Amino acid sequence: MSTKAHVLIVEDEPVTRSKLAAYLMAEGFQVSEAADARDMRAVISRAVPDVVLLDINLPDESGLILARDLRSKSSVGIILVTARQDEMDRIVGLELGADDYITKPFNPRELAVRVRNLQRRVAPTMAAERSASGVYAFAGWRLDCDARQLISPTGEAVRLTRGEFDVLAALARNAGRALTRDQLLDLTQHDGDAVVDRTIDVLVGRLRRKIEAEPRNPSIILTVHGVGYRLVAG
Ligand code: CA
Repeated sequence: MSTKAHVLIVEDEPVTRSKLAAYLMAEGFQVSEAADARDMRAVISRAVPDVVLLDINLPDESGLILARDLRSKSSVGIILVTARQDEMDRIVGLELGADDYITKPFNPRELAVRVRNLQRRVAPTMAAERSASGVYAFAGWRLDCDARQLISPTGEAVRLTRGEFDVLAALARNAGRALTRDQLLDLTQHDGDAVVDRTIDVLVGRLRRKIEAEPRNPSIILTVHGVGYRLVAG
């Protein structure tokens, strides 16, 4: 498996796309190319890249909607590529979960620096997400780490924030074992976030309100006194 950072270029303009691809390859990135939203989905279904360079003006779908879709499924780095006059779109794009943007015409060196910085920032989270694939079952619940979805015993999808999901996934991967708050912090650490012990307690509290019949008397996420938390096995 390649250890190079993987960048996906989504751009319908072939000359711009191949120039960018050549430049980023020369900078040491593994590069995939997509000419539209359909291509993009095909590439991502094979391998989720580290960073997506996303042209917001695509022939088949809005890059803004694609940014939102990407963000709902993974922590992949997203850099919007916009035209100078697209200021409103840039703001909306950042609100929808893009990490950064760059305006055409851009300096390729600056772009490479931004791609590399973003890739370093998302690397720990992407590594955790890639290792977190699989489906875990406990007390009738199912946590699907590929779809990042929690399904209740009655088959309903329950919305979790990224923090809640990460804590539950860490507990599920270690079901039956007590994890300390420090271990949970390590397993859910997002680069740059100021996470403190107390946050784990807050996230566990929120999870209990979502999944426990009696949140004050939990039977799924158990408190292990003097240690931390344990998810019931099976
Ligand atoms: Ca375009």
